[in-house]
Amino acid sequence: MMISLGTAIFEAAGSAPEEAKTIITRLAGANLRGHDSHGVIRIPRYVQWAADGIQVPNQKLKVLSDQPGLAIVDGQYGFGQTIGEQAVDIGIAKARQQGVAMVALRNSGHIGRIGDWAERAADAGLVSVHMVNVRGSLLVAPFGGISRRSSTNPFCIGAPVAGQPHLVLDFATSLVAEGKALVALKGGKPLPGGAIVDGDGTITSDPRPLYGPSGDSIYPDPSQGPGALRSFGDHKGFGMNFMMEIMAGALTGSGTAGKLDEPERRRFCNGMLSIYIDLQALDGTPREMSDSFASEVLDYVAFVKSATPTEPGGEVLIPGEPERRLMAERTQSGLPLARQAWEDILTTAKAKGVEPQSHVH
Ligand code: NAD
Repeated sequence: MMISLGTAIFEAAGSAPEEAKTIITRLAGANLRGHDSHGVIRIPRYVQWAADGIQVPNQKLKVLSDQPGLAIVDGQYGFGQTIGEQAVDIGIAKARQQGVAMVALRNSGHIGRIGDWAERAADAGLVSVHMVNVRGSLLVAPFGGISRRSSTNPFCIGAPVAGQPHLVLDFATSLVAEGKALVALKGGKPLPGGAIVDGDGTITSDPRPLYGPSGDSIYPDPSQGPGALRSFGDHKGFGMNFMMEIMAGALTGSGTAGKLDEPERRRFCNGMLSIYIDLQALDGTPREMSDSFASEVLDYVAFVKSATPTEPGGEVLIPGEPERRLMAERTQSGLPLARQAWEDILTTAKAKGVEPQSHVH
């Protein structure tokens, strides 16, 4: 039902049928993997962004520079679900030719869950690293500060392991992704302690200081509150968050979150600097401990997972494992969705002339 309803909503918002289906499928895919923050809860906001011209339906990537190991590409504010696929596919093709390739993506609409892009590359046999910033989005306070100076700037590494599930590390460099604050605001999973700093410097788990009065509306605007998200891991997480601005914002040419004395907030977009490594290009090279990437990885995974758990009966997990488990579970049980989030989707559908009942199968 959700795919059918979501497709109809995005078509009504201006996307061609194929793009509409891609957007909702990727959003639902984030829910399936447990990242409700980047799932269908985003429907009302995406639709609003399309109406406001912040994200533009049906855009094609524009190649600004095409060199053997490097492409600089402009997403032209297209929906990130479409633009992301196109950008990753360029990286895959180049890395297959060159062994290693870099793609600098600027001006993309929201590219959602970054793990999607690492998985797409890993499906093609590539290791990939993705550094992302969000120009024009001021959500996160720097370490030692209260004022917002950056966004949630995710970092992601993916690696295929022959015959095994991909390894995927994928996280926001804020303590939580903004969407997790949105989920908490809408009655979903509460935030961990210390995720938010209020305007007066109080550290809290209450998401409301991020949204201010807009928190009560169907389109809560995280630019409206007096508070900020906090980066994870004190000065270390802040350092990563800061360097995402440098790599994905400054180096790609997409632009950083903002600068002093600008009259207006910068136009929202994701910048993404991605590096792709073809494992086949490494084949046959002597390695110190093992001549097989996969067997070395598997040995190490077994070593890590054998660590004594902190909790009796607990278990050590590796990057990508929680998502994989939830996906198996949720593929059976369906997506849990807070009532308010569902009602907001229905309201958005009706506002776009889509009758939800006709999508209940
Ligand atoms: P998170 O805090 O849930 O961390 C997820 C990562 O930690 C995954 O790699 C997961 O496998 C690993 N992990 C989780 N629990 C684990 C455990 N117990 N043991 C070992 N590893 C574990 O993620 P987040 O920071 O809330 O980010 C959520 C999503 O938001 C990500 O997909 C990210 O790409 C996305 N995001 C996108 C944007 C954007 O602008 N497009 C911005 C911010 C975040």
